[in-house]
Amino acid sequence: MTDDSRNPNHDSSRRRLIQAAGIAAMAGASSFTQRAVAADAPAATAIPLSDPRQLFPHPPFRAQPQPWPGLASKMDPRPDHGEHSYRGSGRLAGRKALITGGDSGLGRAAAIAYAREGADVAINYLPQEESDARDVQGLVQQAGRKFVGLPGDIRNESFCRDLVSRAAVELGGLDIFVNCAGRQHTHDDILDVSTEDFDWTLKTNLYALFWLTKAAIPHMKPGSAIIFTSSTNAYNPSVNILDYSITKAGIANFAKGLAKQLVGRGIRVNAIAPGPFWTALQVSGGQTAENVEKLGGDVPIGRPGQPVEIAPIYVQLASTESSYMTGQVVGVNGGVGLP
Ligand code: NAD
Ligand code: MG
Repeated sequence: MTDDSRNPNHDSSRRRLIQAAGIAAMAGASSFTQRAVAADAPAATAIPLSDPRQLFPHPPFRAQPQPWPGLASKMDPRPDHGEHSYRGSGRLAGRKALITGGDSGLGRAAAIAYAREGADVAINYLPQEESDARDVQGLVQQAGRKFVGLPGDIRNESFCRDLVSRAAVELGGLDIFVNCAGRQHTHDDILDVSTEDFDWTLKTNLYALFWLTKAAIPHMKPGSAIIFTSSTNAYNPSVNILDYSITKAGIANFAKGLAKQLVGRGIRVNAIAPGPFWTALQVSGGQTAENVEKLGGDVPIGRPGQPVEIAPIYVQLASTESSYMTGQVVGVNGGVGLP
């Protein structure tokens, strides 16, 4: 089965159609379709339709608990971050991106896509995740782009400042800041959430975001983009991750407010609100074993998303193609009807 978005000809065909449309309009052509087809004909290959319900693995999954923060390399099935499928078309050529949580999951999918779209990429991750980060290093370098690995714990303010400044120095600038690092830990009962747990979640998901964003802004020129990672839990909190859901609502709100402020600097700010995705966060304490086994079974598409399925949105929001999008929260959630 083939996913349209991962067809090697998808983006280039689309570009040729757009170019042909422009040519047709300038020439006063009576039929856009005729001109577009004619211009595209030599390289056009039919892209097979794919039913999104049939793509990728479905529950039930093995519970497969891992110690926090978990490794993508130990998951079964292995998450699909686009390693073998994402094809770039120069949409981020020459950009310099910092991605927190870039070793695995949604952050790794963004890192692979950004590199294949022509960006140099710095990632932050925890020291325990060095092996996952090395895999990302190989993939970014195979794409011919610069890779910068910056391990460390973002719950520390001075580390956050240092992280951004080292990324900007080593990349030679900073155009894109993506926050994918996040802490999610399941507790069935609020009475079991200690102050330490609460602090851990808020430090990782909100304080670090505040510190990192403050550090990033002075490096960013007009045209730069900031992308936060919220969640459907911002709108419809799951019963067992209350502290996490508070932070994800805060992140969505932060993106909307900050966007209004940073438009004065020509910087766009958006957030992505994913539904259930098959990542290490789920199996390393983020969900109960029972919920891991049936992950994604309750969304209309009937399965969890794979990280590769969200990568195009991280690309789109970073790209100048989205020049009129700021302060938005974009949902990617298998059809649950939330942003
Ligand atoms: P993931 O485990 O692959 O990525 C999360 C990353 O967060 C880790 O790789 C780790 O490097 C980083 N991290 C956690 N604590 C850190 C700390 N103290 N210091 C530095 N880095 C730290 O899981 P993922 O699902 O890809 O998560 C990425 C983002 O997506 C998170 O913000 C998560 O809340 C969000 N999200 C995930 C889902 C989902 O279903 N997987 C749904 C909605 C939102
Ligand atoms: Mg990880």
